Amino acid sequence: MSDQRGDDKDEKAGIAGKDGRAASVIGVLGAGTMGAGIAQLAARSGARTLLHDPIADALARGVERVQDGLGKEAAKGRLSEEQAGAARERLQAVDDLARLAPCELVIEAAPERLELKHELYRKLSEIVGEHCVLASNTSSLAVTAIATAASHPERVVGMHFFNPAPIMKLLEVVAGEQSSRRALALADATGAAMGKTVIRASDGPGFLVNRCNRPFGLEALRLLQERIADIETIDRICRLEGGFRMGPFELMDLVGVDVGFGISKSFYEQSFGEPRWRPSPITARYVAAGLYGRKSGRGYYSYENTDAGTGAGRAGGGSTSVPQRRADPEPLQAERPGHGEGVIVIAGSGVLAEELRHAAAQAGYEVRSPHDPTGGVLPALIVECDRLPASREGAATDSRSRDAREQSPPQGGAHLLLCQAGSLGALDPGGSAVGFHVLAPLEHAGLVELTRNESSSPLAAARAERFFAALGMHVAWVADAPGLVLGRIVCQVINECAFALGEGVGGARDIDTGMVLGLSHPRGPLAWADTIGLDHVLTVLESLCDEYREERYRPAPALRGLVQAGRLGRASGAGFFEYDIER
Ligand code: NAD
Repeated sequence: MSDQRGDDKDEKAGIAGKDGRAASVIGVLGAGTMGAGIAQLAARSGARTLLHDPIADALARGVERVQDGLGKEAAKGRLSEEQAGAARERLQAVDDLARLAPCELVIEAAPERLELKHELYRKLSEIVGEHCVLASNTSSLAVTAIATAASHPERVVGMHFFNPAPIMKLLEVVAGEQSSRRALALADATGAAMGKTVIRASDGPGFLVNRCNRPFGLEALRLLQERIADIETIDRICRLEGGFRMGPFELMDLVGVDVGFGISKSFYEQSFGEPRWRPSPITARYVAAGLYGRKSGRGYYSYENTDAGTGAGRAGGGSTSVPQRRADPEPLQAERPGHGEGVIVIAGSGVLAEELRHAAAQAGYEVRSPHDPTGGVLPALIVECDRLPASREGAATDSRSRDAREQSPPQGGAHLLLCQAGSLGALDPGGSAVGFHVLAPLEHAGLVELTRNESSSPLAAARAERFFAALGMHVAWVADAPGLVLGRIVCQVINECAFALGEGVGGARDIDTGMVLGLSHPRGPLAWADTIGLDHVLTVLESLCDEYREERYRPAPALRGLVQAGRLGRASGAGFFEYDIER
């Protein structure tokens, strides 16, 4: 696509952006939260920086913020006093838009209203030279739509910084439909000069990073709506099992429930009703009730009578003395080798079954496969990782399903089933088994989810708890669904990334880099998918499709294609990425 872009007639030596040169005179338009941070980055990068805001107080506050920010960087040793002083001198506050005339690049960080931005781009087009690149820091408007007001729409790109701009490492450079290669190259080079890791995205709702993260909140809201787990449990599972710094509800409270709802509605409208992006009725109710999150004192948690910076109580009951959110339990130490008692049978051929066999052996269990005779000893637990719902057993033809049928584990005893190919209810209708789900890599998961129904045996439940405690893992009991809580959230995040990849919104490396650096994910979702096994991810999504009959869970063609091609992830040597495997 980029080969056909643009106006490259104006590419000649000496113009910023050509041959990867960064802008040396940068205008920043809007001196608020983002503008001040961007001006700090620009001045620090060595560029002459002209900061403009039509509101005099806002401009003065913005300049003060830049000065303070540079002072803090010097105090922390990130800049020398001389460097901070030189950066201060490079910053100039300008009270008239016309004084942005000498800029090679103007980064606009004005309020998020299309008509206001249009007016600015019209005026700027008359002020700056024809080679000046205009970059918008918009997070939700289409760059292509903003560009229509500029005299040369090909000079307009997105430069999406993350908040706080001086600290967050990521910059997403967004290509509008008409953005020229030169304009994009200038944005890339200037971002790199500011010390950012730059990724490329094409225009569309949420660009790359915010789009790929949509299911983190939306799927959590669906789980809450279906009462699979409560708010605190979902958040704790994401932290302890998934390694996320914050659970989805804490994050939605931090961003602002009203802001999140606005973004959800905009995604849904821009996509003409994509089912994966349908806003949640729960959020609509919270917004109607003024429960906006931290900024209003209450959202999914209550921040009344707490220090908003240190903790939150669960919202509810109208009490003003809501307790703080309970701290997570400390990680369990795996019990000393030899403590796991007796024989455990683990059936299944996927990554998780392998990891469970290894962990159980380390914990001291005698681990057998379904075909190993147990010498007359009754296994303490029979763990099945490949169980299919009765309705699909006859139909499945892939080799793993055949293995599962041929190696059916012993009948009787306490059974624990992986809720991958279905909910517990679908895998063992009316049976006595207990369900579980956890995502590889097991060594980084501090918690496993368990589920039971009315017919589950209390003995199986007790033995499942005992088994995972011996492996050094907490457990959380949740209600029944394919993939349970984390599996469902993470598989949907991976699915969204695979859709974005297939639609050419960004590359696999950029997706993973963006999610880690922009949103603090514990690992890139596509590399995580390769570790989990793409067949596992696909099976969870197909089970959700089967059981819910909703388009929301349809697997991305890119994911299905990789599985069909035998690229199942790390264990097979290739998935979204390539791996060296010892043969
Ligand atoms: P903000 O409200 O903190 O700052 C906006 C500034 O623009 C204010 O100082 C205001 O005085 C000024 N302004 C008002 N009218 C103007 C005009 N006609 N011309 C120039 N400046 C004008 O907003 P913000 O959070 O800094 O957001 C700015 C942009 O950055 C928006 O497009 C937003 O979507 C985007 N963004 C915000 C974040 C975030 O987390 N805050 C993150 C990424 C992108």
